[in-house]
Amino acid sequence: MTLPATERLYLQDDHCFDTDATVIAVRDAAMAFDRTCFYPGGGGQPPDRGLATFESGTAVDIGSVHADPDGVIWHACAVAPSPDTVGARVRLAVDRERRLALARYHTVLHVLNTIALQDYGAWITGVQIGVDYSRIDFKWDGFAAALTAAVEAKVNAVLDANRPLRSYTISEGAFRERQDLLRTLEVKPPVVNGTVRVVEIEGFDAQACGGTHVPMTSHVGRFSIFRVENKGRINKRLYVRLERPVLSVSPSGARDLFW
Ligand SMILES: [Zn+2]
Repeated sequence: MTLPATERLYLQDDHCFDTDATVIAVRDAAMAFDRTCFYPGGGGQPPDRGLATFESGTAVDIGSVHADPDGVIWHACAVAPSPDTVGARVRLAVDRERRLALARYHTVLHVLNTIALQDYGAWITGVQIGVDYSRIDFKWDGFAAALTAAVEAKVNAVLDANRPLRSYTISEGAFRERQDLLRTLEVKPPVVNGTVRVVEIEGFDAQACGGTHVPMTSHVGRFSIFRVENKGRINKRLYVRLERPVLSVSPSGARDLFW
């Protein structure tokens, strides 16, 4: 039986952390729903983790998520669900702290890869986003340790400018006319139903991306490069870290939505 592709709520709203959904299939120890806010991984960003809570109150840990070639997103459960859960209503909740950390690193990559390409002609060849630090590989001819401080300053200047992010989709045909939206030569752009999602940092950059981001560059934190490895003459591996910005507290004492 062919299952319908899962509706990906995180594509419409990067800050969708929970939703109601219906179980449409159970396979091995994984469930598929009609819709989800869980990011299934891709572009160097690992999949979300979180909880699925049934109306009975039973909660199931979702340890990992992946999308199959038909666009069905499978949520791997710590305990195999019974096949008769198909049709059940659940509340899905992403591990919010973890997702926000990954989104902060994901967002700074847009800033870094744009500066690398525009100012230094460097293309990204690989990314591994983490919660505590991230690793980014570039083909970066002429990169030297002495450049590190200048690159950090350029990235932090963009973050400090507090630019908003937004996303929209364009047709695959329109995308082919827009080489400026590419930041990598080696990964296929995320084409979903004949469209490509574009993520824009207002007044700075637009690039094809299917990941999750923070809403303003000021939410990223302070950027630094703490290690550089040479992986050949022009292949460089940069390890980067973010320090959280100071927690903002509203007059009511409530924490800012994202911190
Ligand atoms: Zn992105």
